[in-house]
Amino acid sequence: MNRLSFAGLVATALFTFASSATAQVPTADLRLYTLDCGTLALDDMGLFSDTGEHSGESGVMAVPCFLVRHGDEWLLWDTGLGDRLAAVPGGVHQLGGQWTVRRTLAGQLQEMGLRPADIDYVALSHTHADHSGNVDLFPDATWLTDPAELAAARALPAPLGVDPELLKPLDTAKIRPVHGDMDVFGDGSVLILKTPGHTAGHKSLLIRLPRSGPVLLTGDLYHTRENRAYRRVPGPNVDRADTLAYFDRFEGVAAHESARVIIQHSTEDVAALPSPPSWLD
Ligand SMILES: [Zn+2]
Repeated sequence: MNRLSFAGLVATALFTFASSATAQVPTADLRLYTLDCGTLALDDMGLFSDTGEHSGESGVMAVPCFLVRHGDEWLLWDTGLGDRLAAVPGGVHQLGGQWTVRRTLAGQLQEMGLRPADIDYVALSHTHADHSGNVDLFPDATWLTDPAELAAARALPAPLGVDPELLKPLDTAKIRPVHGDMDVFGDGSVLILKTPGHTAGHKSLLIRLPRSGPVLLTGDLYHTRENRAYRRVPGPNVDRADTLAYFDRFEGVAAHESARVIIQHSTEDVAALPSPPSWLD
């Protein structure tokens, strides 16, 4: 990297932090909707701690998708297990668990009066198959994607947890690269935050809601409340040191913002959120 482009990156990073430093009430109408994008019934929760806790115990995880309305623009965060699974009664058994979809994402959008083509931006916390099941629904969206995440997901053989077939539509999609953090709408209201470790380009999402206050969506930085409390690192994880370092970053942001933290796979955290037609704002 030459000095000029490095200086450019630093300037971009400083700009992001400057614009995000003040938790101001956004002028645009900002709402957070939580959609049901499936359920994972895990055979062995030992998968989610590389220090042996819960080995042999079964468990259930929520799989939400989140829709952010910003004025007349829409951002979808994560796409769930995949609408194709709704056609399989009882779901399918794969990757160490039973994957079940009771309600399709397309159907839930329709109930909100939206078509997939109405979604302007889509961002995945990471490219694992339980977050990328409906990539094919949004060929016209602008994809906010870390090039490092995409490159790692496209490696051969495919990394554990990645289904390359699900990501194929991204080969021809409009990609807006996310290097580090991204201020999605340019007003500090919705920030994609760099939190790598679980995967190379893993991200979390900060939404500064005017009435409810800041909300932080973890992605899979943490899989359970216990993992957050005890700083447990999952077994399938690309960089343990990064994961621990970005626990620190995430907790620093959560404390500074006094944010409500939503662990996306936590059934308790997700159950506490309103379902459409209700929202947080
Ligand atoms: Zn996941």
